[in-house]
Amino acid sequence: MRCGLALAEAGSPCGACSLHAPPMARTVVALDYAFPWDRLIARFKFAHAPELASVLVRPLADHLGPLLATSDELRPDLLLPVPLSPRRLRERGYNQAWELARRLARELGLPAQADGLQRWRETPAQTTLDAAARRANLRDAFVVHPRLASRLAGRHVALVDDVMTTGATLATAADLLLRSGAREVSAWALARTPAPSRPDRPAH
Ligand SMILES: [Zn+2]
Repeated sequence: MRCGLALAEAGSPCGACSLHAPPMARTVVALDYAFPWDRLIARFKFAHAPELASVLVRPLADHLGPLLATSDELRPDLLLPVPLSPRRLRERGYNQAWELARRLARELGLPAQADGLQRWRETPAQTTLDAAARRANLRDAFVVHPRLASRLAGRHVALVDDVMTTGATLATAADLLLRSGAREVSAWALARTPAPSRPDRPAH
């Protein structure tokens, strides 16, 4: 509900979120980050294949379309991609989160801003760090673009990313947006790393 972890029973937050609610009001995830999607997403990011966004956006767009139609409260005012650092953006040539966000914006009829959030500091790979080190690593990694800062007050923002691992990156960005005046932040990710202990769902 809050962090995007798949649970055996839907409708309530996970144990971690019950103890300490993350800044995002909700997380929408289309896929487990697992075979074969992990391979396709790796190609999308690391093999200079931005055009794969038009295929990869489908599961998320197909999920979000009907979901947003159920309630105006779920419908954000603005989409923002999780940014890459300038160096990473130069190396890759595109921000994969923006490639997804701009297609979602077009399909869902929502505004999006590519540079609303900026990442000005290079941060070591999150996966090698424990939770406390991750938070320290991410602190002050993001800034709000001045052009967005004046538009944020009272807005519901959806943060878009390709892969959610621990959720630390999305939580840090969501926290900054809330401190900068946003009313509410949703997190939308194409795929999420499943919890290792997740019980298997019943087979159908
Ligand atoms: Zn949770």
